[in-house]
Order: sequence, then structure tokens, then C-alpha cells
Amino acid sequence: MKATITLLPGDGIGPEVGAEAEKLLLAVARQFGHEFTLQTGLIGGAAIDATGNPLPEETITLCKQSDAVFLGAVGGPKWSDPNAPVRPEQGLLKLRAELGVFANLRPVAPHPATAELAPLKPHLLHGIDMLFVRELTGGSYFGAKRREADAAVDECRYTVAEIERVTRRAAQLARGRRRKLTHVDKANVLETSRLWRSTVTRIMDSEYPDVAYEHVLVDAMAMHLLTRPSHFDVVLTENLFGDILTDEAAVLAGSMGLLPSASVGEGKVGLYEPIHGSAPDIAGKGIANPYASLLSVALLLRHSLGLEAEAAALEQAVSSAISDGVLTADLRKDHPASTAEAGNAVLQRLSA
Ligand code: ATP
Ligand code: MG
Repeated sequence: MKATITLLPGDGIGPEVGAEAEKLLLAVARQFGHEFTLQTGLIGGAAIDATGNPLPEETITLCKQSDAVFLGAVGGPKWSDPNAPVRPEQGLLKLRAELGVFANLRPVAPHPATAELAPLKPHLLHGIDMLFVRELTGGSYFGAKRREADAAVDECRYTVAEIERVTRRAAQLARGRRRKLTHVDKANVLETSRLWRSTVTRIMDSEYPDVAYEHVLVDAMAMHLLTRPSHFDVVLTENLFGDILTDEAAVLAGSMGLLPSASVGEGKVGLYEPIHGSAPDIAGKGIANPYASLLSVALLLRHSLGLEAEAAALEQAVSSAISDGVLTADLRKDHPASTAEAGNAVLQRLSA
């Protein structure tokens, strides 16, 4: 097949892990006989430095003209002055809104070899296979923000339509899995959560009677993730709760450097990125873990291009590299692999 993919390397380790993502995209194309056209755009701090704008118009146009977008990471100390007129993260939030990607999918299925590194009792880590579906274009991230004389306000607003569409997406994904959905809210306190709870209940009862569901309070969920993580299948959350819980869930996988994400909506263009940030503490050293990015490429192949066999082959190649101990410094202290060595190990196993 022919596909156009936009690469947005961004800042910090973004370009380093992005280079491995590009390498593997081209390898998949070669191996399976596809024609992928790759184009690169500016976003985040790199875009501010070059144009003054964290998301230049040209980048939006490139993304909208493509089938899928891969993003490395944005941000870093250079641009983090709270009084700066523009910040890198604004570019990413705007891109999500421009592409209308309202559902952020974050699978958490730890590899046995890296789960060992999680600070949890081994028996708790057995059988974890969750898919977080985080609402991505609403809530307090996008609500009105203002300062008052001695106060600050972040508005959290959700419409019924916003809740319905992400609930349907999560329920459809549950149908392809273990048919269980856990909706996370704070309905004992928040009005938005009460709307979420009643809307999720109505959609699930009327449209997805074959999918079991439950409502769990977010504070309890923070605990359940560490005490019985294998209980969960699809986990549906609003924007802020999902951000926090998926970083927590990354601990179950052994490293931030292992978790991919896919952001999808009704439009045709999906956005794929590792869940980690720009990691300024290790940027420029060639030691970042590229596996979250390579697994994000697998999600891109699956969700935007419909290439299931290719996605599975890439996931298998990453898994096999991990099994063989090809691990970067976040996962092993003795003889760690560099970013490029880890990428090459996956490349080799893909074509083996
Ligand atoms: P953001 O605000 O953009 O989400 P963050 O503050 O959550 O960023 P990260 O950039 O994700 O922070 O980094 C958190 C920690 O995880 C850092 O110590 C970083 O070095 C480490 N880390 C993140 N990604 C990777 C990676 N791919 N490989 C190795 N270590 C990583
Ligand atoms: Mg973070």
C-alpha cells in the first residue's frame, strides 16, 4: 500500500527515538512491499526556535495531508520559563485539537523480562493486559483558564457528545479484547464525573450489552493499579485522570521508555507518540529507550494503516529484543544498549 507519514521529532530525546522510528518504518515498508512517503515537520521548542510558533501552519498542513503522524516529544528547560509568551506543550495540545484526536489509547501489557524490574511483588504482575482510553481533547486541559487577584481557575467542562464518542470508541475496543470496561471518575465530588457516569451507563446499557462495565473512583483506581492490575481490561477516563493513571501504570511495565500511545478520532489522521516526555536529563547522549517509539509505530501501522500483520511483526521483534536482553540504561545498568543498538536489534529481528 501507499501511505504518507509525517514525522515530528520535537525536542530532547524526541529526535533520537524518532530516528529509530523512521528506521523501522522504512524497514517495514521494504519487508512487506509498501511505499511509505515520510515527511518531517517542526513542533515544540524546535519550532519556537525556528519560527517563534510551537505549531507552525506548515506543520498542521503536512499533518492533515498525511495518513498518520509520529511525534517524538516536546518541551525542555530551555522553553520552560512560566512567563514565556509561548510554550512547546501548546503546540502539542493544538495539534491534538486540530486533528480531532479525542481518544488516546495506551496499552499496558508488560513484558515478563521488564516487569521484573517493577517495584511490585511478582505475582501481582502476572497477566497484566490493559488498554487505557483517555479522553484527550476536553476537560481541564482545554477549559478556560484565568488568574484572579489571589486565585487561579481551570475550568473542567465536558459535553454529553464528547463523553459519548469516547465511550463508544472504548466499548468497541473492549469487544476486540476481554469485553470488560472500567470507567474511572470522581462522581462522589465532581459534577463532570456525574455526567460521565450517567452517560457511560446509558451508552453501555443500550448499545453494548455484551460488554461488562463498572465505575471506579479515581482514588481507589490509583490503589487498584498497584494491588490488582491484572483485573483490568479497557480503562476509560477523562483527560486529567488518564494522564496521571497512565504514568502510574508505566511503573508496571518497568520503564517510561516502554509505553506507546495512539491518539485517534473521527478524522482519518491518527497521532502516535511514546507516553514519555523529552527527558532532558538524558537527551543528546544516545541512551534513550526507543522501544516506546517503535511500539507506537506498531500502533500506527495497526490503527491508521490497517496493517495488522506488520504491526504484530514489529511488536514481536521488540519483544524478542527485550527477551534477548537488548535493553537501554533505564532497564539495565551493566552493558546497556545505546538507542541505535536497540533500534538495530529490532530491525535485525524484524527481517530474521
Ligand atoms: P512530560 O511533562 O513531557 O510528560 P515528564 O516530566 O513526565 O515529561 P519525562 O521526559 O517523561 O518527564 O521523563 C521522566 C523520567 O523518565 C526522566 O528521568 C527520563 O530520563 C526518564 N525517561 C523518559 N523517557 C525515557 C526513555 N525513552 N528512555 C529512558 N528514560 C526515559
Ligand atoms: Mg509526563
